[in-house]
Amino acid sequence: MSDVLIDMAMIEAVTNVIPSAFLAVNISGRISHAYISRQSPNVLQRLIGKKFHWGINRVFHSTTADTVLEYYEKCLQSKQPVEIAKLKHIDSHGLLEYLNWQFLFVLSCNSVVIYVRNITESVLIEEEFTDISEQYESVNRELYEAMSKLDLHLMDIEQAHKKIAALYRVTSIVQKTVNEQEVLEGILDGINRELGFNDVAIMLLDESGKALKVTAYRGCQDMSIRIPLGTGIAGHSVLSRELIYVDDVSRDTQYNMMDEPANGNSEVAVPLIVGDKVLGVLDIRTENARTLQPYDLDLLRSLASHIAMTIDHANHVSYIEKQAITDGLTNLYNHCHFRTVLAQEIKRANRYNRPLAMLMIDIDYFKHYNDTNGHLMGDEALATVAALIKESCRDVDVVARYGGEEFSILLPETTVEEAKVIAERIRLSVEAHTFPNEITQPNGKLTISIGAAEYPKNAKSLVELIDYADMALYHAKSSNRNCISIYHSS
Ligand code: GH3
Ligand code: MG
Ligand code: MG
Repeated sequence: MSDVLIDMAMIEAVTNVIPSAFLAVNISGRISHAYISRQSPNVLQRLIGKKFHWGINRVFHSTTADTVLEYYEKCLQSKQPVEIAKLKHIDSHGLLEYLNWQFLFVLSCNSVVIYVRNITESVLIEEEFTDISEQYESVNRELYEAMSKLDLHLMDIEQAHKKIAALYRVTSIVQKTVNEQEVLEGILDGINRELGFNDVAIMLLDESGKALKVTAYRGCQDMSIRIPLGTGIAGHSVLSRELIYVDDVSRDTQYNMMDEPANGNSEVAVPLIVGDKVLGVLDIRTENARTLQPYDLDLLRSLASHIAMTIDHANHVSYIEKQAITDGLTNLYNHCHFRTVLAQEIKRANRYNRPLAMLMIDIDYFKHYNDTNGHLMGDEALATVAALIKESCRDVDVVARYGGEEFSILLPETTVEEAKVIAERIRLSVEAHTFPNEITQPNGKLTISIGAAEYPKNAKSLVELIDYADMALYHAKSSNRNCISIYHSS
């Protein structure tokens, strides 16, 4: 044993500071030295002189012993230091221990020196630390997830807020106006500015109800195109009453592309629906493949529903407004509106120093027609005369039912001589028309008489213009009717 030069005093010192064991195994495989910390029972002393294999198998159970011997062999063969960093081991009291093994081949004494350290405490601390850090990580993860969710909620709230703000801004523009075209222009400006869409169109159903026509647009839409229902993205959207979004029109085969732009652009069509009525579609195209998110589509749905309501409201208001100025039987302007326009036209004539002519028309022997054919046929004849008069006038002329079976016409920028030409056209068209049972009329036909006057040539005021046209009419009546009389100041 003394062939191994080992400073036992030093080993004792070390093993007493750090709980550990020390073994030296000579070349014949026998344990030459053994020392263990003072705190532990010195079981190893009894192993001195014994075979290392035998000793190890006595102290440790087989799996632990096998590992130790395997590493020992490795060191012996390679003559290089070998380490078992952490060997798990159940001690004689059944307690779990962790041991660190270092094998060193000492050439000078031709022995393997083994140093064993009990690292149970530090391993347990390490495990506890790992446990704590895992818990910490899991709490951290949960916290992160909670914060992400909170972020999403905040985004939802922010998006909802933005949506309401954009809707408010787009729609508040149009609340100031009720004219349909102005409403549509206002909406498009709002969409343009608030939502950043530059290529937007509102297409409404045309008179046939079978095609869409571009009623207002921003960007490069073609005003003249008509899109039959069921054609293109817009036409499909109206038929299906659903929003349709195609994020790359050029790659889409489902829809007929006749109304689509050439390449890579996306298109979204949102039907404009009020109650069960489809009015048209809001059509948006984006140039640079701006992908619309569910949030955008949601916003467009809300917007479309608001646009539809606004259009419907504007239509309703314009219908009521029209009703207020229209005569129900003849569809001409009523007397009240005629007086309003007359006042405006007098002002205009004054401002631009232009002539203004007025015709006053009265159906001849209409009482007779009523008495002979009944009031109902009288009404029909009255409406027919109104339509014939309207047809014979120009768009700029203002045609009204003045009252009873009398009509009045304002002819802006027209002298009484020019008015007479139009009056003659009207008179002839009524004379030429065949009214039911008109043969029984005193002069064998249903006819009209017309009086004409001019402002400011004869009449110097609104009242005078009406009076003089009326006086001229009276004159026509007294000249056997079915004729035109012009007021001349005598
Ligand atoms: P004149 O050639 O002188 O104008 O003879 P007239 O019979 O047309 O004149 P009068 O003023 O005596 O009669 C006008 C008649 O027009 C009286 C009324 O029966 C008829 N009338 C007025 N308003 C209406 C209406 O809304 N419907 C019908 N059916 N008849 C009307
Ligand atoms: Mg009359
Ligand atoms: Mg009459």
